[in-house]
Amino acid sequence: MLAARQNHLRTAFDEAGIDALVVSSLPNQRYLTNHVGTAGIAVLMRSGCHLLVDPRYETAVRDSQASPQACPELTVHLVQGSYDDALVDLLMGLEAAAIGFEAQHVSVATYAGWTRRLGTKSEILRPTERLVEARRAVKDLFEIDCLRRAAAGLDTVAEAAFEAVAPGVTEREVAGVIEAALRAAGYERPAFDTIVASGPNAALPHHRAGSRRLAVGDLVVLDFGGVLDGYCSDITRTVSVGSAGAEAQRLFDAVSAAQSAAVAAVTAQVDASAVDRAARAVLEQAGLGEAFGHGTGHGLGLEVHEDPRLSRTQAGVAQPPRPLAAGMVVTIEPGAYLPGFGGVRIEDDVLVTAGGCELLTTVPRALRACGR
Ligand code: ZN
Ligand code: ZN
Repeated sequence: MLAARQNHLRTAFDEAGIDALVVSSLPNQRYLTNHVGTAGIAVLMRSGCHLLVDPRYETAVRDSQASPQACPELTVHLVQGSYDDALVDLLMGLEAAAIGFEAQHVSVATYAGWTRRLGTKSEILRPTERLVEARRAVKDLFEIDCLRRAAAGLDTVAEAAFEAVAPGVTEREVAGVIEAALRAAGYERPAFDTIVASGPNAALPHHRAGSRRLAVGDLVVLDFGGVLDGYCSDITRTVSVGSAGAEAQRLFDAVSAAQSAAVAAVTAQVDASAVDRAARAVLEQAGLGEAFGHGTGHGLGLEVHEDPRLSRTQAGVAQPPRPLAAGMVVTIEPGAYLPGFGGVRIEDDVLVTAGGCELLTTVPRALRACGR
C-alpha cells in the first residue's frame, strides 16, 4: 500500500526535476510513511525513504514498522535537538542533484534557516506545489474503506443531534451532544469545530455554535463530522424547531433539489465546475443564486478540506480543466442563506465512480421537525 503510494509520487519527480522530496506536511507524512504525530519530517528518495522523528515517537514508529502496513525501505533518524539541524545534516549527505520541498508547508523563516545552514549546497533546493496532495485526491482501497466507515457511522450521531434540538436549548449544548455522540460512536475526535447555527445565525455559513437558545420556527444548520482511523467525515443536516413555516420549507426544498442535482452530476471525467454549476442552476432558477455564496464541495480524506475543490469557474479567467476521477471522495454541500431569516445547507459525502457516485453518508435528508 505505502509502496504503491510512494512509487506513484516518484513518477512526479522527473517532471518536477527532483531526486528527493522533503515532506513537511504531517498528513502527507502519514499518507507516505504511516507516521502519526505532531512533529516529523520525511524525505522520500528515488529509492527508500528517511523519517526524522523525536524520541516521543520512537515506540510508535517501531510498532508501525512491525505491522503489515510497514513503510518499505524506511530509515528512521531520531532527532535529539532541532528538526531543522537534523534535516540539514541529512540533506548534506544525500546523493541528490535537486531536492524538492513543499513550498506551501515551509515558512519563510524555516526556509531561510535551511539555506543558511546548507550554504552553497542550498542551490539544490527546489520549491514544489501540492505533489502529494494531488495524489491524495484519488483514494486507494484502504482509504475508501476508512472513509466509508467514517461516513456510515454518523447515523447514530445525527439521531442524537436531532433528539437534542428543542426550544430553549443553546447551540453550544447541541454541539456538546454531537461531540459526545461522536466519541460514543467510536470516532477519535471531531473532524472540525461542530457548527450549530440557529435562526438568523443559520444565515451565516461560518457560524460555529454560540449561546443563542433555539426557538420554535428556527431553521437549525447542524454541520459535523468525526475522524475514524485518521479519515474524516463531514455531514450537514438542516432541521426545524417545531414545524417549518412556508418560507423555511421553500428554502429547504430548493437546496434539497440543488443538492440532488449536484449528486446526480457527479461521475468520473466530469469537470468539478460542472457539479457546482448543477447545484447553482437549480438555486438560480428558484431566485436564490445570490443566496449561495460558497462552493459546492471539497475533497475529504486525512484532512477535512482536500483537493479537489468543487467550486465555480471564475468568470473571464482561463482555468485548466479539473476532471473528477474514480476514487475521489468529495462532499456535496450547496446552501442558501437569507440574512436575518436563516439558511439551509445539506451536505453528503460521495465516492466518485466510473459511472456516477456512491453516497457514503446515509442519514435521511428530509426536513425534520425536532423538539415537538
Ligand atoms: Zn460540513
Ligand atoms: Zn464540508
